[in-house]
Amino acid sequence: MSKYIFVTGGVVSSLGKGIASAAIGKLMESRGLKVTLIKCDPYINVDPGTMNPYQHGEVYVTEDGAETDLDLGHYERFTSAKLTRDNNITTGKIYYSVITKERKGDYLGKTVQIIPHITDEIKDGIKKAAVNSKADVVIVEIGGTVGDIESLPFLESIRQLKLDMGRDYAINVHVTLVPYIKSAGETKTKPTQHSVGTLRQIGITPDIIICRTEKRLMREAKEKIALFCNVDSEAVITAIDVKSIYEVPVSLKKEGLDRLILRLLNIKCKDSDLSEWKNKVLKKIKNPSKKTTIAVVGKYIALQDAYKSIYEALTHGAIANNTALTIKKVDSEDIEKNGAARYLQGVKGILVPGGFGTRGIEGKVKAVRFARENNVPFLGLCLGMQVTVIEFARNICGLKGANSSEFDKRTKYPVISLLEEQKKTDIKGATMRLGAYECSIKKDTKAYEAYREEKVSERHRHRYEFNNDFRKIMEGKGMVFSGINKKRDLVEIVELEDHPWFMACQSHPEFKSKPDNAHPIFREFIRASLR
Ligand code: GLN
Repeated sequence: MSKYIFVTGGVVSSLGKGIASAAIGKLMESRGLKVTLIKCDPYINVDPGTMNPYQHGEVYVTEDGAETDLDLGHYERFTSAKLTRDNNITTGKIYYSVITKERKGDYLGKTVQIIPHITDEIKDGIKKAAVNSKADVVIVEIGGTVGDIESLPFLESIRQLKLDMGRDYAINVHVTLVPYIKSAGETKTKPTQHSVGTLRQIGITPDIIICRTEKRLMREAKEKIALFCNVDSEAVITAIDVKSIYEVPVSLKKEGLDRLILRLLNIKCKDSDLSEWKNKVLKKIKNPSKKTTIAVVGKYIALQDAYKSIYEALTHGAIANNTALTIKKVDSEDIEKNGAARYLQGVKGILVPGGFGTRGIEGKVKAVRFARENNVPFLGLCLGMQVTVIEFARNICGLKGANSSEFDKRTKYPVISLLEEQKKTDIKGATMRLGAYECSIKKDTKAYEAYREEKVSERHRHRYEFNNDFRKIMEGKGMVFSGINKKRDLVEIVELEDHPWFMACQSHPEFKSKPDNAHPIFREFIRASLR
């Protein structure tokens, strides 16, 4: 039977609960245990696929094509857990399922209620993901902050689960903020006391409290938290701010977190070994021998989380090249207004990420043109590939006004368009081309140089595709179609012949990159930026 670690958060959001959960996963794995991680999100959307990045941050896509919370990205980057749609449970999904069952008559004669019907559905969802994963340790992160109305059914569910399973089978880890008040020169424990108080009112007592702080907690502060929150003082863990998120597992291990968890869960196993992680990742972050600057040209630049996996994958590419990385975030609407040179002059590489809708598109087209004409290494991802094709059609093939039918329904040259199957659907949720698809790589191309394989698989999330009517014209002008989905004859990767390094893919390779195993495309992109 799996053992459970339930992770809740208190005081404020954005505490890094997701990274703490992922780091716990890493620590458990480093002791030879099999882990899985589940994220519970209290919003009523069935999945985040229909949300704006400003609401939600990046939408992370799993192999099986689920549009999920970006924390699943952290989980997959830190651990080797294979996550599926079952690893992200939302309020919307739970209600959808319960209401569907009610209509079918599954609860005939009964009043359907939050307790037990919604809570049972949550518990079943958690147990299903746990059983399917065959994990020794299941880490369940509850989104939101304790005290929110929305997360109550999830908290009630984990309260019941812990009770059902009994001692040694489940623990609660509460992540809180211990702010440092500069003027007083003190760390303050009161917010933590209050949030644990709120948890205890609903019947949950934390076994471990992870305190996010800027300053290491003194013994007195730990003892105070322990006393007021009813835990051992050794169960008060300092999670001090670190430069790189990849240091978190090591920093939590130093605090004895993994030992404590194993003792509480009564698991006997080997000691953890993080030496490979330290050598392959942390050492390289700390002692880079080169440096590079990559511009990311998007429209959600102001938001740290909107391009999370891309920023991480670039970091991984830099780690693999022993390189210090500066990411210059450029708003495509600024380029639209003021031209590309002002923002892109001097950068060593340009990346245009995915996106939806017309806003900012022309700025991205200008960024592609700048990269192409100035021989700056370029990587386009998803929409980034689509604007690459638009730019090439307009400026090299002379197809004036070429566009994607997403942005101009009446364009004479719809170089990016909808497949027939997509034209038929007007439902927006989970109807894009989603998840893993195979791609055949052409030899003697940059793509092959990176992958060194003829068959690869990458994750997708888009509705529009390269329009094959234009393949011949573009090929004739020097565009190389180096990656093709053979089954459907879909263009997956394009490159340029006369350019030091210019590649764009319809998929999202960023989702499969790891700090200790950079995605080959990101590794080669960073390498090209160094030349
Ligand atoms: N908007 C484009 C499409 O739907 C690209 C999507 C993306 O970049 N993820 O095809």
